[in-house]
Amino acid sequence: MGISLWDSYPPKVSDDQLQYLAQTVKDWTIFNGLTVRPNPSIVSEESNPNHVLATNAPVTLYPSPFPKQCFEQAEDLQKVYNELYAAIATDEEWLGEVMKELVEVDDFLANLWKIHLQVKEEGYVQDLSLGMFRSDYMLHVPDDSSSPSLKQVEFNTISSSFGGLAVRVADLHRELATYPDPTHSISYPPHPLFNTATSASITSGGYPPTNEAVDTLASALITAHQSYRDSRTSPPLPQCILFLVQDNERNLFDQMALSQHIRTTNREIPTFRIPTSKILSQTSIPASSENPSRPLIYTHPANPNARYEVTVVYFRALYAPTEYDTPAAWTARHHLERSAAIKCPSILLHLSGSKKVQQVLTSTDPSHLERFLPKTSKETLDSLRASFAPQYSMSEGPDSEGVRIALDPDLAQKHVLKPQREGGGNNIYRSNIPTFLKGISEKEYKQYILMELIQPPSKARNVALRSDGQIVSGDVISELGIFGTCLWRSKVGSQEKNILQNRMGGYLLRTKARDSDEGGVAAGFSSLDSLILY
Ligand code: ADP
Ligand code: MG
Ligand code: MG
Repeated sequence: MGISLWDSYPPKVSDDQLQYLAQTVKDWTIFNGLTVRPNPSIVSEESNPNHVLATNAPVTLYPSPFPKQCFEQAEDLQKVYNELYAAIATDEEWLGEVMKELVEVDDFLANLWKIHLQVKEEGYVQDLSLGMFRSDYMLHVPDDSSSPSLKQVEFNTISSSFGGLAVRVADLHRELATYPDPTHSISYPPHPLFNTATSASITSGGYPPTNEAVDTLASALITAHQSYRDSRTSPPLPQCILFLVQDNERNLFDQMALSQHIRTTNREIPTFRIPTSKILSQTSIPASSENPSRPLIYTHPANPNARYEVTVVYFRALYAPTEYDTPAAWTARHHLERSAAIKCPSILLHLSGSKKVQQVLTSTDPSHLERFLPKTSKETLDSLRASFAPQYSMSEGPDSEGVRIALDPDLAQKHVLKPQREGGGNNIYRSNIPTFLKGISEKEYKQYILMELIQPPSKARNVALRSDGQIVSGDVISELGIFGTCLWRSKVGSQEKNILQNRMGGYLLRTKARDSDEGGVAAGFSSLDSLILY
């Protein structure tokens, strides 16, 4: 896109027009469920004692321009990435090697690995695994003259969220771009990027491409449910899918988009939401003398006679150490892992998404990609490798490249230090890195990996409507996520796997103020966005 287009996007509007547009978006979001429960720091308990309120999710008022070629590259890579992470989760020995040094210093990972070993000892009773993934990228433009390339920020293997709301943002922006309004009092004002809006085919620009995230994610749950082998409970029970959610989840409407899609496309599959604190009281596993196949039985809280055999547990919780604040939470994770329900994800798949694994994958000596993707063409592997940003181990001693860069205030300036955590707000940036490292022992360095900062385009601008109604405009950075799913059969201890379904579909764009290092919508940094391909 030429410089002039960046300079003129989003189109200039008067204050009155902006207020009108914001009000239109506020109303649209509530009407269409592009919503979140309010943050208690914004809406106090006293003013919302019955917890009835919802507000708009943070959204941009305009879609962000995104290079079509980079978008398509991300789409093309998704199924390869799906297979890569399925292969890693299947290779317990390799993953165990990577985990070995981490479990010495990271209690959270150590506890997860311990549960895996306990269940392995007892014997896993489910050989299907489901991955619902999101691969996240930023555009990398090291200097103004270079054309943007696509660099992966991270790959998520647990609780990959916002597919449900992202679909609605694309719908919102498409409606605003194409509203039949010659005076542009409600549709966007004219801009060259919107010119093709009425005539364009969906992929050729003008307005956000169709977003298939909900269908992709819901279909994965349906396929897993249908692939589940009945464990012959006696008497036979109806089957259900469980959405495992956090106790005070504010992003429930995103999750409900998936359960509602399952209900409307497959009326015979019940789905239930269960908060983590209720796992041990609302689910049970029969004694092995009664049924050695360890079915997970869900008893509905409103009706003790309503019992179901759980086919799939979809984790939208239990990815952060803070969620394991009681021993019961660890017992609950172990309970689910040893059950016959298909886990999305299993502990091995959860751990495969560690930042450490992503760092190890970037190494070329040895290259692990050929091992995990033996049938993939060299050209595709090269394209995969081209999406990696440089990353360094922090476990190879004071003379290693990673530690040297991290401790040097100048070199650290272009890097981010990442612990093995999810959900945003955990990283250490730039000049804070050396200071931070000086405050911990050298032994603890290996909890982290070091990654070069991706350098996004400098001219992008947008306007966001935050959940508290504030309108903020300015320079922005966008992060693209592509959704993908994979269902496969494998046995722990054998590296063989049989992929039943591998699918790509749907995207998420999150846009944040340029001066914020962190991203994350739930963590309060970003707004949901969609894109116009150019
Ligand atoms: P999490 O699993 O907590 O989401 P991420 O690796 O996605 O961890 O990091 C959180 C945020 O930090 C990202 O959304 C992005 O805004 C920023 N970030 C992470 N890695 C990089 C990088 N290499 N370059 C620039 N920004 C990054
Ligand atoms: Mg993550
Ligand atoms: Mg992230």
